[in-house]
Amino acid sequence: MPAWIDFKELRSKLRFEDVLRRYGVEVRRKGVQHTGPCPLPSHKGKNNVPAFSANLERGIFNCFGCGAKGNLLEFAALMERVDIEDGPASAGSPES
Ligand SMILES: [Zn+2]
Repeated sequence: MPAWIDFKELRSKLRFEDVLRRYGVEVRRKGVQHTGPCPLPSHKGKNNVPAFSANLERGIFNCFGCGAKGNLLEFAALMERVDIEDGPASAGSPES
């Protein structure tokens, strides 16, 4: 078995703010909260509203535009277009 990444530990060492910046997100901090346009490549539709919000302290995000949510590792995976979901994600599914 390969060494399993300790996500809990990794998460505690990473700062979401840094991760966001790494992906070119201009962090607009309001307390522990960042809100802005959704940076995810999977985001579809209008992106001129701050649909994306991230809790920089807890390292979690969600977007009410595309419905993406998760922790900062999942965010990084989405930015890298890595499919972290188990099973095929039906692209362009009509649920909204
Ligand atoms: Zn989005």
